[in-house]
Amino acid sequence: MNKHQRAKIKATILTQIESLTEETQSPESAAQTKLRLERLGTALKRIAADNYGECFKCGNPIQMSQLLTFPETMLCIGCLNNPRTQT
Ligand SMILES: [Zn+2]
Repeated sequence: MNKHQRAKIKATILTQIESLTEETQSPESAAQTKLRLERLGTALKRIAADNYGECFKCGNPIQMSQLLTFPETMLCIGCLNNPRTQT
């Protein structure tokens, strides 16, 4: 992942955090929002690491489109679709 891609994902995370913070939440979804905010906060820290964007399980690069939708994701599509696969 290059510097430009990192910057793009970082901007995406910040935008998502901002919109989640601004949204008026029902008590039911507030807990979920809090969880998502925590995950995005973690992703923001992880993005500085060299292995950000690599699948936690198989080590393959995670698709850019997936990272831009869910920056906190730690698994590639293949591993998400095959949760029982062990490496
Ligand atoms: Zn994987």
